[in-house]
Amino acid sequence: MSNNPEEPRLQQRCSFCGKEHGQVKRLFAGHEAHICNECVNLCAGLLQAVHDEEPAEQIRDLPRPADIKNFLDQYVIGQEEAKVTVSVAVYNHYKRINHQLRLKTRGHFTQKSEDVELEKSNILLLGPTGTGKTLIARSLAKFLKVPFTLADATVLTEAGYVGEDVENILVRLFQASDFNARKTERGIIYIDELDKISRKDGNPSITRDVSGEGVQQGLLKILEGTIANIPPKGGRKHPEQAFVQIDTSDILFICGGAFDGLEKTIARRLGNKVVGFEVDKKLISEASEDIFDHVTPPDLIEYGLIPELVGRIPVTASLRPLDEKAMLNILTEPKNALVKQYTKLMEMEGVKLRFQPAALKAAVKKACERKTGARALRSIFERAMLNVMYDIPSQSEISQVVITPEVFTKGKPPKLITHAEKKKAG
Ligand code: ADP
Repeated sequence: MSNNPEEPRLQQRCSFCGKEHGQVKRLFAGHEAHICNECVNLCAGLLQAVHDEEPAEQIRDLPRPADIKNFLDQYVIGQEEAKVTVSVAVYNHYKRINHQLRLKTRGHFTQKSEDVELEKSNILLLGPTGTGKTLIARSLAKFLKVPFTLADATVLTEAGYVGEDVENILVRLFQASDFNARKTERGIIYIDELDKISRKDGNPSITRDVSGEGVQQGLLKILEGTIANIPPKGGRKHPEQAFVQIDTSDILFICGGAFDGLEKTIARRLGNKVVGFEVDKKLISEASEDIFDHVTPPDLIEYGLIPELVGRIPVTASLRPLDEKAMLNILTEPKNALVKQYTKLMEMEGVKLRFQPAALKAAVKKACERKTGARALRSIFERAMLNVMYDIPSQSEISQVVITPEVFTKGKPPKLITHAEKKKAG
């Protein structure tokens, strides 16, 4: 036997591919056998492939609509009707998946006449920007622990045009599912700004309408359910690349849009219908906050969505503009409210952070002026708090930071209270 400890290592080789120690990055030793990093990777890939082939399972412990709504309440302020509508739609969506799996396992591959066909409940969220549409979709995915991705309809193009191919959304969902096709097929996709790809009136369809109708057709295909072949890493399709097949029938699509001007169509229709009757003026006023509650498919078609697409998004829910009270609540109440987050960050520095109520009101007022809903709150906070977040970690004598209205309105520094001052004040 050799005394050189290196020598036995040199003779070690992978028991699977036969490569020697020096030919691979790592060689793992087991009981009377070795395996190299390359073979480990290969086996992992094979296992994943087997996993992907496994039949989809029923979703156990399906959360009830009330459970879903309770979860949404922790993150989304107000928007009660939208939260209820969405909770019911999502519950039905997953119930439908279970129902179909049950039929399949019973061997009913073909629909019997007595079987009720449950349709997919894709959702359209209507409402001004920054009122919680994306937040609702994102929170749902979080609660259901399903993969989620969002896409902006305005950057989508028909396949073959410059821009993002509709199928790329599926690639991103696949990536969000850790490259698991079965998980991908249960995911949620949020498509923002659906209103921006509406067919424009008077646009002759002889010239190809790249940004509008063509994209709607592309979306329609994946919304209604298709088997898409996606390049797992995205990008343009190469013939030599292996594709992954994704069945989109059970992916839940939530679409959102502000639909500016749609209120006029709705009001006109409601007004026409009730001509000659005493009607509630509020109901038919295009300025009324709940006008979107009365939206019907023909309104959306008149707005410029193609009828087939409207038909595939049967559930609509409208979100209200956020008033100052709601904006204040958004600052303080949700689990990830900005005030809570900044307070926690300061607490980790051993500093107590206090916002004067008038300061929060000032921030809200500023945000409301921007007319981008609650979206503006974050940037206003980040800007105002930047110096505090920069200075405090290097000022160990500070015990408390008090945010006054002037921090938001005039960019003034906050009131700082040192440990000594605090002691003196008792
Ligand atoms: P949009 O309606 O344009 O999709 P988002 O949901 O993206 O708006 O909202 C932008 C940000 O504003 C969110 O990340 C969230 O912090 C905040 N926000 C908007 N609406 C609400 C709401 N109803 N409750 C709590 N936070 C909200």
